[in-house]
Amino acid sequence: MSLIVQKFGGTSVGSIERMRNVARRALATQKAGHDVVVIVSAMSGETNRLLGLAHELTKVPEAREMDVIAATGEQVSAGLVAMAIQAEGGKARSLLGHQVRILTDDAFTKARIKAIDSSKITETLKRGEIAVIAGFQGVDHHGDITTLGRGGSDTSAVAIAAAISASACEIYTDVDGVYTTDPNVCPSARKIDRISYEEMLELASLGAKVLQIRSVEIAMKYGVPLHVRSSFSEAEGTWVVKEESALEEVVVAGVAYDKGEARVHLVGIEDKPGMVADLFEQIAAKHMSVDMIIQTATTGAAERANITFTVAKTDLARGKAFLEEVATSVGAREVRYDEDVVKVSIVGLGMRSHAGVASKMFRILANEGINIQAIATSEIKVSCLIAAKYTELAVRALHDGFGLGQKT
Ligand code: ADP
Ligand code: ASP
Ligand code: MG
Repeated sequence: MSLIVQKFGGTSVGSIERMRNVARRALATQKAGHDVVVIVSAMSGETNRLLGLAHELTKVPEAREMDVIAATGEQVSAGLVAMAIQAEGGKARSLLGHQVRILTDDAFTKARIKAIDSSKITETLKRGEIAVIAGFQGVDHHGDITTLGRGGSDTSAVAIAAAISASACEIYTDVDGVYTTDPNVCPSARKIDRISYEEMLELASLGAKVLQIRSVEIAMKYGVPLHVRSSFSEAEGTWVVKEESALEEVVVAGVAYDKGEARVHLVGIEDKPGMVADLFEQIAAKHMSVDMIIQTATTGAAERANITFTVAKTDLARGKAFLEEVATSVGAREVRYDEDVVKVSIVGLGMRSHAGVASKMFRILANEGINIQAIATSEIKVSCLIAAKYTELAVRALHDGFGLGQKT
C-alpha cells in the first residue's frame, strides 16, 4: 500500500461540480489501494479577490493581516472538498495549516516552511479517511497565520509529500503538464514527458508559474517524484525527475517569461571603488532582491557610471522613495523607472555543452525588431529584458526558432 499526495489548483476546485470531480478522483485512488492526502488551493480567482479587498482599504497593507485574509480561500476549499468526498460516500477530514502544524518562519506573505508535524495526517489516514489539507498556509512560532507566497499550495503539497514519505506527489492543474513554454501564450507549445529538476527549477524561477519554485527545490532536495497533470483528463502528464533518468536530447528545453520585474536606471553615479557595494548593500538591507545588473561607464564625463538593475515590481511599489534616497547617497544625478518590461528566458541543460545558444537568441529577437535592454546568463539559461509589449512575439519566435514545437 502506498501513499499518494494529490494537489488540486484553483481551477481544479473552481466550482462545486469540479470539487465533486476532485472527490471522485481521490476516492478512486483510495479504492485502488492507496492512502490519499489531498492538498487544495483556493477556488480560482478567490485569492486575487481577497487581496483586492485589502488593497481597497490601503495601498500598502500590513503583511500579517494580508495572510489572515488570504489564508481563508484555502480554508473554504478544504472544508468543501472534505464534504464533497463525504457526499460521494467516502470518509474525509479537513485540516488547516495550524492544525497539521505546518511550522513556518514569520516572513508574512512569503513564509518558508521550517517543519511539518505528520502525526495528525497519519492518524487521519489510519482511520481510513482522506486527509484534505488547506494549501498555501502555515503557522509561525507565535501561532500567527502565514502564507507561502503566490502559487504556494504547490510547495505545501511537495513539503507534505516529503514529510510523510509519499511515493508520489501529483500536481493537478488546468494544463496537461509542463510544456515547452506557456501553452496559453504559444499555440505550438508541446507537452514535455520528462523534465529534470534542474531545468524545472530554472523555468519556475524564470516565470513558468505551473510550479512554484520552492516546490521544485524541495522535490529535488528530498527526491519526491513529481507528476504534473490535468485534473480534467486521465492522460499522463509530465514527470519531473533526476537529470540522469531519461531526458529528451535537446539544447533548449523551454522558454519562460516573467512580467514581475521592473527596471531601475541610475544615471551618473560616482565611478569609484565601493560605490556599487554601497548601493546594493543598502538595497539588500531593505530585503529587496535585485536580479539583473548592468554597469556602464558614461562617455565624456570622467569618473561617472550608469547602473541599470531589475527588482520585483511589488518591491518597487513600496520602495521608490527609498531608492531615490539611496541613489542620491551614491551621487546619482537621476533615477528612472520602467515597469513596462518583461524578462524572456531560454533554459536547457544542453547549453552546458553547446556554444552559440545566446547569440542565436539575440539574433531571433533582432529579426523581430526587438531591442534587448539587459542580459543575464547562467550555465543553463539566458535571459533578456525587453519591452513588455513584445512578450508574445518574443516567446513564440524563440520557441519556434529553437525548434521546440516539433518532437525531436
Ligand atoms: P494552478 O491554479 O493549478 O496552480 P497555475 O495557474 O498556478 O495553476 O499554473 C498553471 C498555468 O501555468 C497554466 O495555465 C499556464 O498558463 C501557466 N504556464 C506557464 N508556463 C508554463 C509551462 N511551461 N507549462 C505549463 N504551464 C505553464
Ligand atoms: N491560492 C494561492 C494563490 O493563488 C496559492 C495557490 O493557489 O497555490 O497564489
Ligand atoms: Mg499554481
